[in-house]
Order: sequence, then C-alpha cells, then structure tokens
Amino acid sequence: MVDAIVEVAIPCPLHRVFDYRWSAPQAALAGQRVTVPFGNRTVTGMVVGSKAQSSIPSKKLRRVTKLLDQTPIIPPDLIKLLHWCCRYYRHPVGDVFGTALPALLRNGTAAEIEKVEVFSATAAAHATDIASLSRAPLQQALMRMLVAADGFVPAAELTSAARAWRRPMMQLVDKGLAVVEHVDELQLNTAFEPGKTLNTEQQVAFDRVASTLGTYSSFLLNGVTGSGKTEVYLHLIHKVLESKGQVLVLVPEISLTPQLLGRFRRRLNGCLICLHSAMNDRERMQNWLLAANGTADVVIGTRSAVFTPLPRLGLVIIDEEHDASLKQQEGFRYNARDLAVMRARERDVPVVMGTATPSLESLNNVDTERFTELSLTERAGGARPPQIALLDIRRRRLHEGLSDRLVDSMRGHLDADGQVLLFINRRGFAPTLMCNDCGEPAHCNRCDTHMTAHMKIGLLRCHHCGAERRLPTACEHCNSENIDLLGCGTERIETVVTELFPGVPALRIDRDSTRRRGALQQHLEAATSGEARILIGTQMLAKGHHFPNVTLVGVLDTDRGLYGTDFRSLEQLGQLVLQVAGRAGRAERPGQVLLQTRNPENPLLLTLVHEGYPAFARALMQERRLAALPPYSHVCLMRAEAVDSTQPRAFLNQLAHALRLYSRTLSQTDAAVLAWLGPVPAPLERIAGRYRAQLLLTSEKRSILNHAVGALLEQFHESKAAQKVRWSIDVDPLDFY
Ligand code: ADP
Ligand code: ZN
Ligand code: ZN
Repeated sequence: MVDAIVEVAIPCPLHRVFDYRWSAPQAALAGQRVTVPFGNRTVTGMVVGSKAQSSIPSKKLRRVTKLLDQTPIIPPDLIKLLHWCCRYYRHPVGDVFGTALPALLRNGTAAEIEKVEVFSATAAAHATDIASLSRAPLQQALMRMLVAADGFVPAAELTSAARAWRRPMMQLVDKGLAVVEHVDELQLNTAFEPGKTLNTEQQVAFDRVASTLGTYSSFLLNGVTGSGKTEVYLHLIHKVLESKGQVLVLVPEISLTPQLLGRFRRRLNGCLICLHSAMNDRERMQNWLLAANGTADVVIGTRSAVFTPLPRLGLVIIDEEHDASLKQQEGFRYNARDLAVMRARERDVPVVMGTATPSLESLNNVDTERFTELSLTERAGGARPPQIALLDIRRRRLHEGLSDRLVDSMRGHLDADGQVLLFINRRGFAPTLMCNDCGEPAHCNRCDTHMTAHMKIGLLRCHHCGAERRLPTACEHCNSENIDLLGCGTERIETVVTELFPGVPALRIDRDSTRRRGALQQHLEAATSGEARILIGTQMLAKGHHFPNVTLVGVLDTDRGLYGTDFRSLEQLGQLVLQVAGRAGRAERPGQVLLQTRNPENPLLLTLVHEGYPAFARALMQERRLAALPPYSHVCLMRAEAVDSTQPRAFLNQLAHALRLYSRTLSQTDAAVLAWLGPVPAPLERIAGRYRAQLLLTSEKRSILNHAVGALLEQFHESKAAQKVRWSIDVDPLDFY
C-alpha cells in the first residue's frame, strides 16, 4: 500500500503546485494525470512529484479523486523541461503543463489510440487459386484485393470498394483465408522518389551533422533560399530513420503546406505525422499519442509540437529559425526554437536550425561558439540568385503606390512571359480615410489607431481589435463629402493593377482573400502554375512557397519597415526582403527585385542591397551592441493593461519601486547590471478599449534578470494592485509592443 503526498500541477494562474494525499496499492507517478478536488470544483491535473510530508496539516489535505493514466503520459525528460520553463518564463506551472498536452488530454480524455480494423490474406490464401471462389463473387473480389495488397487493408478502404463486404469477409476469415486484426492507426508511408545527389556544400553540411548523431550539438544551417536546405534535412532524416530514431521537425505555421508534406511523403519511409493548430482535437491527440508511444517516426509540427514526447528522438530540425511564429505571443510566451535546442541538449541529439536570414540571436550564438555555422552559398540546381536594387520614388509619379519605373519594369517582364509579384504588408484598400475639410481621419473608437478601408466589402475595419462599421460616404466628424482614401493596401494595388494591365490575370493573396477553407491552396496553385500573371500579397506570400515563373518582385512599402517603431523592425525588414526575393527566379530565368523607397541613401538599405543579408545583419548587430539590446543583453517586458488609463502605470510604478528596493539587496556588481526603463505607455496605448503600459527590465546577466523577476512575482502575484490590471511577463520578447 502506498501512502504518499503527491504534488499536482493544476490549471490556474498560481505559480505553485498543490499537495494531495494519495493512498492506494499503486504509486502515482510524475506524468500521470489525476482528477482532484480544487476549491468547489473537480479538475484534471498532473502529478509532477511526490513526497513523504506536506507543510499542510494532514487534516486539511485533500485526496486525489482518481488516477487517470495507468502509466505516465509525459516522460521524465519533458517534465524536467516543463519545470525549467516555469522558472525561466516565470509562468504558472499548471498552464505550462497544460500547454504541453493536446486539448483532449488536458481535459481528462482517456489517452487511448483508436484501433483501426485491418484485414490481410493468410498464407493459405496466397496458395489458393482465386478462380475456385467463382461461386462467391464477393468473396472472390475481396480475396483479390487482399492478395494484391500484400499487407493490411483497413476496413475503411473495403467500405469504399464494396458496401456489403463484411459478411463475405467474415466467411473468408472462417475459411482461414483472411485474418482480422486491430492495430494502432498507422500512417505508414513508402517513399517513391529518390533523393538528389548532394552538392559539395550540402554534403559537407550533411557530414558534419551526421557525424554528431547520438550526441548534442547545434548547427545553424545558413543557406540562401533555394540552396537545398530541405534536401539536407531529408537526407539527415533518412539516415536517422535507418537507425530507428525519431525526428522532430518544427516549421512556421505558414509553411506547413500540403506541398511541404507531399515532399516529405514522397521521400521518406515510415510513419509521418503532423501536429498543427488546424487539426481537430481528436486528430491532434491521436498523432500526439502515436509520437509518444514511439509509433511515429517523423513529427512535423508547428511551435507547440516542441512539447511532443518522443521516446526514440534522434534529431531535431527547426526550419526558418528566425521566424516570429516560433514564439508564442500570449499566455505562456515560450520560444519553440530555444526550447527545441534545450530538448536536443537534454536528450543528447543534434539540432539543425535552417534559414536564409538568421536571427541576430543565432548569429551571436555562432560568434560565441554555442552554434556551429554550416553555409550553403549557392542555389541548388543551378538557379541564379535574384538581383536586388533600390527604386528611388522621390519626386516620381505614383499610380496609387506603384511608381512609373516599377510599372515599366512590370510591363517588360510580363511581355517576356514572366510573372510579377508585388509585395505590400498591408491588407485592405487604404489605411486611412481622411477628411479634407476638418482633417480628421476615421478612428477606431476602441483603439488609438485609424480604421482601414475595405472597399470590396464596404467596411471600415480596425486591424487591431477587429471592430468594423459601414464605409461612410461623408466625414463622420463634420459631414463633409470631401474625403479621401490615403495610402495603399493589397486591395488598392489589385485595383490599380487591373486598370494598368487590363486582361492580365491578377491575384491577391492575403488573409482576406484566403479566409474560405481551401482558398489559400487554390490561390497558391494558380500562382505556381503561372495562371495568375501578377501576384499581389502580404507576408503570407513571402514565406515557404516557391514560384518558379516569377521573374520580378516589387516591394512597395520598404520605408514602413525602415521606420518601424520596434527594435526588431529593421531585422524583420531585411529578412522579409530576402524571403520575398527568394520566391523569384530559376535556372534559365534569374529574378529581379525592386525595392521602392524614398530613402535610397539609407546606409543600412544600401548594405542590404549591395552586400547582402550577412553584412546587413552584422551592421544591425553593431547597433544592438551599442544600444545594449538583445542579443547583447537579456530583456524581460512586464506589460499591464486596464480599462482605467491610470491603473496600468500605477501598478508598474509599484513594480519599479519594488525593483529599486530589491536592487539595494544585491551586491554592487550585480546591482550595476540590472536596469529598468519605464513604466511607459505602450507604443499603441489603447487597444480594444484597454490602456496599456510597460516596464522593461534588462541585464547582461540572465540569472540576475531571472531572479529579479522572480522576486517581483512573489511580492505582487496576489497583491491588490495586480488585481486591478491584466498583466503579463514576457521573457525574451520579440517586440516591445
Ligand atoms: P531550400 O530549402 O534551401 O529553400 P530546397 O531544398 O527546397 O532549398 O531546394 C531548392 C530546389 O533545388 C528544389 O527544387 C530541390 O529539389 C532542388 N535541389 C536541392 N538540392 C539539390 C541537389 N543536390 N541537386 C539538384 N537539385 C537540388
Ligand atoms: Zn471632416
Ligand atoms: Zn480597434
């Protein structure tokens, strides 16, 4: 009989686990789910540890109601990582453990893999003359199917072949000609496309990583778009699968397309599964369990797949390591790239991070020898890199955002049978509806921002809170009809392009045009096939897709990135330009990229265009070093918001005060490297009717920052001030919004 105290992680905002009494013949182990009474509810929690004694008097100690799992569903290495996350991100333990589980498991659903009914032919069947069954045509047809399949045939396939298959099939089973079994859902895949022979650079990269299989090492695979990074991944995965290892592949949400999956399926043998947010809860749980029980060989997933249990893990791959979607931007704000590296280290396997435009963090990790850089400098298959040039649009006539020179270029490329891609990172028709009489733009009532005009649907829409109202025909303030739409979005560009190039098929790809299920897929096909000659899109178009017929890319709003308010704006602009440029050109048709700008002398832009991303990134790193910004310092952003405009700053002022007192308790050297800025209003102070403020903590020493945040948390977690605001902690924030 076991009589112990178990510690349970419970979904609630508190930074602690809860003690419960456990007495039963069987022990309750870390990683097993339990139902427990909590307040006046019953909740599903997870056992994370056990102990002999609790500080809670035994009379008050409540009992575990029920043990939900026979064995732990989360392995020890993952439990360790999740505990680490709680400390590092200063996030409540219950929520951290909850995030790691698929929704159904989080809610207490039994962790069972649905069995699939499958049939196969016996040896006797293979030896039987099928013609002898001619008096039972259904049996004969089924026998033919089974023998031809030479393996399992799932019941679902039989249903589609013949409606009344069950009776004749059971007769075959009775005769010893067929067997029925129930197996785990197997998404077994057989490769049918051979791998490409790696070129010299790819081979060097492959060999370096392959030689470290079985130990931890981290690689930055820095390769220009189209240089064959994915090909290197596929060769590595193939090798790991041969030695019965599992591979975790993390990709940005936007690039997990049927094209990508198709490429993996054509090339790899084994059980390939996906994990992403568009799947339903049941599929997600099934796939998660198949990974956890070791059935799945390759798991391709987005950010949260980093928490998948993988008993045979042999390799971790992160594609587009610089991509912002790897960081969760709300709740438990983890960075999947950083956690994937942690996991690889914990499990002693190599991790490969691929990108054409490395994050400055990763470049710094190369500088400090935490990562090994592997370079692919040339496009595979002989394609030449695109030419990037600035297009000075000062004093030039603009057709609603398109300069004469760009229009001329477009004409040239279209005449030569090329395809054109116009990139503008703004949806809708125009970002501002301006009154020429009173000078007031149409505001959002709940945010400090303008409403965007969407002409097609006749609405003004706020891109921050989603509010919408009818597109007015007169000024909403003074009733004047002298109003103008200022600025450009994708919809306006589409309109002007159709006017300038009548009869040339143009296609807009943005969040609005792809809302319908399957629309994105359809649009991408029209773009790839060349059916659409002019593509107009937002960053949705910038990543992951390759359009071989595109010969000209125009970036219309370069200057917005140049003057973005955030410390990462420029880094993101550079990455975006290179990513967009990467969509264009192939062997016989090199691409051209034109960046429209009013700042043709901007030194950083010139560096990007003439010397390329590496030199550009180096210049940015120099600036970050001088400004003591990441990657040269560690940052934590405390955000607070409330309907009352004074509350967020009042709360953050208290934090700042507490910080001052706290830093006095530190040694002089430690106190010297802890700094904070603020509280200040957020760059966009009011969103959806709530005022937002922030306090920025920085330190060159990670541990000092982490302890300071921990100390604040203890004081304020249950304080009165904290209850008046919604507040959050963002460790390693991507932006300061
Ligand atoms: P990346 O992931 O770096 O963008 P891909 O792996 O998708 O690059 O390769 C770009 C194109 O070049 C693909 O069409 C791919 O099939 C082809 N390719 C990659 N490696 C080779 C190679 N070694 N030989 C021939 N073609 C290759
Ligand atoms: Zn007006
Ligand atoms: Zn709004």
